[in-house]
Amino acid sequence: MSLVPPFISSLSPYVPGKPIEETEREYGIAGAVKLASNENPLGPSPKAVEAIGKALGKMNLYPDGASFYFKNELAAFLKVTPAELMLGNGSNELIEFLIRTFVHGDEEILLSAGTFVVYKISAQAVGRKYVEVPMKDRHYDLEAMADAVTPRTRLAFIANPDNPTGSYQTQDALVRFLDAVGERVLVVMDEAYFEYVDAEDYPDSMSLRARYPNLIVLRTFSKAYGLAGMRLGYGVARPEIVDFVNRVRAPFNVSSLAQAGGMAALEDQEHVRRTVELNRRGLDQLAEELPKLGLSFTPSQSNFYLVDFHRPAMPVYEALLRQGVITRPMGGYGFHTSLRINTGTEEDHERLLTALRKVLETP
Ligand SMILES: *Cc1c(COP(=O)(O)O)cnc(C)c1O
Repeated sequence: MSLVPPFISSLSPYVPGKPIEETEREYGIAGAVKLASNENPLGPSPKAVEAIGKALGKMNLYPDGASFYFKNELAAFLKVTPAELMLGNGSNELIEFLIRTFVHGDEEILLSAGTFVVYKISAQAVGRKYVEVPMKDRHYDLEAMADAVTPRTRLAFIANPDNPTGSYQTQDALVRFLDAVGERVLVVMDEAYFEYVDAEDYPDSMSLRARYPNLIVLRTFSKAYGLAGMRLGYGVARPEIVDFVNRVRAPFNVSSLAQAGGMAALEDQEHVRRTVELNRRGLDQLAEELPKLGLSFTPSQSNFYLVDFHRPAMPVYEALLRQGVITRPMGGYGFHTSLRINTGTEEDHERLLTALRKVLETP
């Protein structure tokens, strides 16, 4: 007799970016650079670090389970009410809550193939069904996704911008999708890279919420806010949705350190601005240099490129590791000739480009 049902035994766990220390140990090198997990190369906001330091002395106490002060501040920043906010131990946890709260029995989750695998893993881990619709030229195919909606569809996830392609969906495309699927399907816009976006036709999902009460927006402090290790994400939805999620979540899912750090990071918009500027310069530089190496990439609204090497990418990934440059293989997402590479500091880019030149000229 099996200890677990087939949906657990057949589950492939999430494969994170290779940690710096592990790479240095395995390859006997020092000073490896990590461009594999879309983290903030500038580090956390110093103000967040200070606030977390101050909160350390009260670690004997449970956190405020309602995150009263943090929610109030975040609500004012977003121009919503605290009742429209849900918080998670990373937005990853909110993805799990939404699946566990709103999808049951024969009901289905609508996904794009080739997108953020966490949706699929979170669904399968709790035995929920999902349907995947192929991408079109490394973009979500929202028309095909709307066509795939059935009476069983309860939840749809849209990463916008997408990870790992970096591509995005426009306001017009999103509105057509929302009109097509109707109110019965909860549509989750996962905007983990929101702060990096500069496309003018990117959807204003916060305003669209007024017209589409089935819209849920997820964002995170892990990327532009530089707090990936703290684990803090949030969702914006109508109060009824938030209230149901609050029944499912554990009472102290967001730590007191995350609440203190999140509040200070939110106040330090200057740090976010510097982060976004560095990213813009980084994307521009790579857009100029990568084609000189015979590489192509999908235009990106995020802090990374899905780079196409036009040959199996695993050997390239390994060779880059030996040069101390950590990127992210994407074969698990179906992109076997590509690596995902996030932007870094100027020095990181020098290391990356030098390593790429070296690796690509040796056949
Ligand atoms: C990084 C990322 C997240 C954020 O995950 P956290 O749990 O908040 O760290 C969510 N969605 C996508 C598409 C991401 O790339």
